[in-house]
Amino acid sequence: TPRVFSGIQPSGNLTLGNYLGALKRFADSQNEGIESIFCMVDLHAITVWQDPDALRQATRQLAAGFIASGIDPDKSILFNQSQVPEHTQMAWIFNCVARMGWMQRMTQWKDKAGKNQQNASLGLFAYPALMAADILVYHATHVPVGEDQKQHVELTRDIAIKFNNDFGQEFFPITEPVIEGAATRVMSLRDGTKKMSKSDPSDMSRINLTDDTDTIAKKIRKAKTDPEPLPLEAEGLEDRAEARNLVNIYAALSEQSVDQVMAEVGGKAFSEFKPMLADLAVDRLAPISDEMARLMGDVGEIDRILAHGAERARGIASPILQKAYEIVGMVGAK
Ligand code: ATP
Ligand code: MG
Repeated sequence: TPRVFSGIQPSGNLTLGNYLGALKRFADSQNEGIESIFCMVDLHAITVWQDPDALRQATRQLAAGFIASGIDPDKSILFNQSQVPEHTQMAWIFNCVARMGWMQRMTQWKDKAGKNQQNASLGLFAYPALMAADILVYHATHVPVGEDQKQHVELTRDIAIKFNNDFGQEFFPITEPVIEGAATRVMSLRDGTKKMSKSDPSDMSRINLTDDTDTIAKKIRKAKTDPEPLPLEAEGLEDRAEARNLVNIYAALSEQSVDQVMAEVGGKAFSEFKPMLADLAVDRLAPISDEMARLMGDVGEIDRILAHGAERARGIASPILQKAYEIVGMVGAK
């Protein structure tokens, strides 16, 4: 039976990229009736420095973002990673299954460690093994993510295959990444070659789910573009990263194909298209940001939801971890 798992780091404000690439699609899988498990991956967030108070605040705000985007904590399991110790316990086993060379090839490691890899945390290097544990400790079959996480889900598959092979049994499923929609890779508004990220130092590079109407309009107005008007057809966007990004965002927010959008806006100047995009973004994001603000008014309730989710998550993860320990050869208490 299919089981969905996905996580988001409480490493800053949720962005439009997180919404279109992840959150919006999580609600879809839940609403199709697939058992869905969603996690605030706080242990991933600390692979780079996080101020403790900001991390607590971001974790609760992220939970509010999930709920405001349509995740129902009674239907889906919603929790934070550090409350379910089985993730880190399974991750240790995977640290011993995965190879250094696999980790060295990860583009996220290379991007986030930057030039001075010697000074990056060991956790940042091992990140994909913890992510594999997040997924496989539930025997999840499908992982909805943005394009940037495809490589990590493939590594999760490699870890499952090697574990199954090493111990001679089909214990872990071979998980499928699910990367769908018009905006699986939303780009920075300042640089069409970089993805939009929560942790980008420039707030102008992204639209936050909590931005107000004026801020959204200003960020889109100032978004980098070339001087030409939009082409008449989608093919004309190929070599125009910034224009393509704005059109893709428009398509995803309006739930149309890129061809449908081009039929509507092809040939328009950015001075005309950008306000249309800003109106659409405000229209779609304002209800989410209002609901997030409302939920943040009762932090105690958010904490109760997360604790309850963690309990349900442990109910699934604990027997799978115990079975993995047994397969590996650990002597357990009877
Ligand atoms: P950070 O900069 O801290 O890595 P992030 O914005 O990349 O933050 P993550 O928590 O790493 O967010 O990823 C959460 C989910 O959002 C993942 O499924 C990821 O693929 C998706 N995602 C992140 N950025 C984008 C983007 N620009 N476009 C589409 N999906 C994205
Ligand atoms: Mg990321």
